[in-house]
Amino acid sequence: MSEPDRTYLEVLENRVVVFDGAMGTSIQARNPTPADFGGEALEGCNDHLVFTRPDLIREIHASFLEVGCDAVETNTFRANRVAIREYGLEGAVVEMNRRAAELAREVTRAYASKGRPRFVAGSIGPSGLLPSSSDPELGNVTYEELVDVFREQSSGLLLGGVDLLLIETGQDILEVKAAVAGARLAMRESARWVPIQAQVTLDTSGRMLLGTDPASAQVTLEALKVDVLGLNCSTGPEHMRDPLGTLSAGARTPLSVIPNAGIPVNRGGVAEYPLTAEELARAHRDFVDRLGVTVVGGCCGTTPDHIAAVVEAVRGRTPKRQNDRIHPGPRVSSGVRASALAQIPAPTLVGERVTLRFQETEEYQLYLGQLDPVTQESGVRQRLENLGYLGPDADPEELDVAIILFKQEHCGLAVDAQDIILTENDSDYESYTAFDDDFRKTLVEVHGS
Ligand SMILES: [Zn+2]
Repeated sequence: MSEPDRTYLEVLENRVVVFDGAMGTSIQARNPTPADFGGEALEGCNDHLVFTRPDLIREIHASFLEVGCDAVETNTFRANRVAIREYGLEGAVVEMNRRAAELAREVTRAYASKGRPRFVAGSIGPSGLLPSSSDPELGNVTYEELVDVFREQSSGLLLGGVDLLLIETGQDILEVKAAVAGARLAMRESARWVPIQAQVTLDTSGRMLLGTDPASAQVTLEALKVDVLGLNCSTGPEHMRDPLGTLSAGARTPLSVIPNAGIPVNRGGVAEYPLTAEELARAHRDFVDRLGVTVVGGCCGTTPDHIAAVVEAVRGRTPKRQNDRIHPGPRVSSGVRASALAQIPAPTLVGERVTLRFQETEEYQLYLGQLDPVTQESGVRQRLENLGYLGPDADPEELDVAIILFKQEHCGLAVDAQDIILTENDSDYESYTAFDDDFRKTLVEVHGS
């Protein structure tokens, strides 16, 4: 395998990277005819335009590079065998992705200069199926099948020379996992390693379509070692602010945010995106400055005007260094929620000192062996000692030891005995006896235990 291509990640360490704006709505704005798509049967298949109207796709890439963006996405959002099945184009997946990547590469090459690389991100959108769903149609796909779907798409993108693979608009975290696995398989097969940027889409409630919350997506995707993690599409930037705060607090990777130009409103059957260029730029500047976001850009409805304003707003901004952040401890996640394995403040564990006689036994050594790693790793902040029940027939010497221990330990004493044993005076241990409940109360009052 070739050396990993880290150029993109190295740039992210030093400055904010701006992605392009929307491909889909930019195509629509140019009113392509059925002939542009390659005939009536292919009308609406944006991904096919790389064969039939490469000039139009080049022009869209150039329109964003012209206003100063650093990265463009290939026109391959739906170019996987499941999504383009409806057009009968399953057999063209690899070639379509390869062609799209080559087109984007041609245009970025014209804009790149020494010290100012322009990147091609291989766009991998969802399949349209939801493997985690119990819906008989949408859920009718296995994880392994999806891995192969995304392996195939990734292999075409890698052949065409992308700088990174961008898994975007993730709706089902299981599908995102499959896409990461497929991307890695393709890299292994093509012996070419590029970074993976994975982005999920949240609704206005801050969750993915099937209920996964941002922290859960983060734990899952960080465990899969994606290089950049983020959010895109769906809502405008305002609804992304809170989830982004959650991601930012726990991030071990650079963060990306590529919002729509607001939530579209339907005007006479046409989706209109309400967010102005200035509003998007202001939101991004805030995300960069306050939340340490490193990759910004625009999804549906964003135009070159939007991206020009974003470029202006984040120019010269340096990303927050990852090691300036306080990371949470280890976390685990289900499909929908994450939970921390550490608790702050740490729980108070009670360390039990067993009876002195028992301490000489093999079982006690075993017990110590089990206890110590536990107390060390669980962050015990207080240790209570239990002197154990010495019994009415206790050897006076044992009691002596118990009292010495009690005086030396800088911790509380938990009484754990069937009968309370009291020595009113530490040295007068012979006066111990058992007491009833009333006396327990007195004990508490006298000794403040
Ligand atoms: Zn979008």
